[in-house]
Amino acid sequence: MNDWSQALGGFKPLPAIGETQTGNRALQIEEPLLFEKDSPGRSGVDLPEPPPHTSRLGNAARTAPIGLPGLSEPQVVRHFTRLSQKNYSIDSGLYPLGSCTMKHNPRLNEKMARLPGFADLHPLQPISTVQGALELIDTLAHWLKALTGMPAVAMSPAAGAHGELCGLLAIHAALDARGETRHRILVPESAHGTNPATAAACGYAVEAIPANGSGRVDLDALQAALDTDVAAFMLTNPNTCGLFENDIIAIAEAVHAVGAYFYCDGANFNAIVGRVRPADLGVDAMHINLHKTFSTPHGGGGPGSGPVVLGGALAPYAPLPWVVHGTEGFGLLEQAAGPAAQALGRLKGNHGQMGMFVRALAYIMSHGSDGLRQVSGDAVLNANYLLAELSVELTPSFPGPCMHEALFDDGFLKGTGVTTLDFAKALIDEGYHPMTMYFPLVVHGALLIEPTETESKQELDRFIAVVTALARRAKTGDAAEWFRGAPYLTPRRRLDETAAARKPVLRWLPVVAAADAAG
Ligand SMILES: *Cc1c(COP(=O)(O)O)cnc(C)c1O
Repeated sequence: MNDWSQALGGFKPLPAIGETQTGNRALQIEEPLLFEKDSPGRSGVDLPEPPPHTSRLGNAARTAPIGLPGLSEPQVVRHFTRLSQKNYSIDSGLYPLGSCTMKHNPRLNEKMARLPGFADLHPLQPISTVQGALELIDTLAHWLKALTGMPAVAMSPAAGAHGELCGLLAIHAALDARGETRHRILVPESAHGTNPATAAACGYAVEAIPANGSGRVDLDALQAALDTDVAAFMLTNPNTCGLFENDIIAIAEAVHAVGAYFYCDGANFNAIVGRVRPADLGVDAMHINLHKTFSTPHGGGGPGSGPVVLGGALAPYAPLPWVVHGTEGFGLLEQAAGPAAQALGRLKGNHGQMGMFVRALAYIMSHGSDGLRQVSGDAVLNANYLLAELSVELTPSFPGPCMHEALFDDGFLKGTGVTTLDFAKALIDEGYHPMTMYFPLVVHGALLIEPTETESKQELDRFIAVVTALARRAKTGDAAEWFRGAPYLTPRRRLDETAAARKPVLRWLPVVAAADAAG
């Protein structure tokens, strides 16, 4: 420490712009781990001394301290508040993540989900005390069946991927009942990763069907791959390139002609809800991501819910439980008879994600059938506005129009030395969460943008202006180094995301112990 910094009371010399004494950046506060703030013995509560007692734990009694940090209540409150302020959310700004449908969650939904009669329910309460909750599940099921044209819906799956598992297990059970064992499941190249992962988890060999020049399933390639060893074809419609699969009726017929089932990944149902009923397209099973199409905060903000609608051939193999409605009111069918007894049993504990059910039904009923039709129309309109405006500087992967999301590749960055990743990182400095990058895999360096219907034209124009300006900067010829350094304004800059995912450090060690371990 030099003399004058000592004179200043230990302050460091004047920092460079952007550097601070504390590491804080304006009101963004550096936040250590709770364990690093530990003051042994400090507590936020005063508990009375326990009365004298004889332990019955025997040799199961703890011998070493529990190792929890000692903290006061304000320290804990500030810790979690600061962490929450580091989070970007749909409530902070436009969240253009394609495929994820990050749309505004109307506050009405939250008000309904917080009604004590819903929020304070226990799943094991006597049936007579939860008649309203069962009626709500039944009413939501009715809407989902009406919107998809399907005769049955399994409400319990906890997310889209879980719904895929439900659908494929039902298909497996239906094939079993036919006395057939089939080994292959076909998925398009552009499929979301959960599709092949689910098929593999169910023990099937997964085969990719290539896309044609317009970004849709190559019908000839599909027909060539189909035979009586194929259990199912899994298709997302609109697909992950944001395009409607125009051949879907012919696809369904070809799949059914070899006795296979047609599974639809319904994550993009928000683009067609109120306009197209999947049953009319020949779909046998489809999950609906309630947390995408029917709002609900998700993606770090809350849980999901993935009910699966089932056609007549698969309905008998749906998982338990079922809400039933008889003269005694509503009930839950928890034991199956007939073919269902051989089917899935339960997929999860209890009956599904009640909070999501309440939000989804509030969303559906407050929009009504005409409002839902407008939702899908506006989602498609917003995406096409982005596609048209951004096509001036970016390279659209396929000719438009698109459905609910706009897909670009990195053609516009060719020769600039700037990558899709660099481009997305620069967007963070401008106050935007990046779009989905490098997915779908069918195009090079993909940038997939889903604005949703809840963004205003002003907000879209602001986003378009920023992306356009960044694209022009990238094309100036000597901007690669600048882009490689982005983001410049975040508390942390470029992280090694691969190492963080592959070699996560999940265990905190006290400094002394960590030094011992290293030494
Ligand atoms: C989000 C998504 C899934 C997976 O849904 P989760 O609810 O995240 O499990 C599957 N397919 C597509 C196309 C998706 O966008």
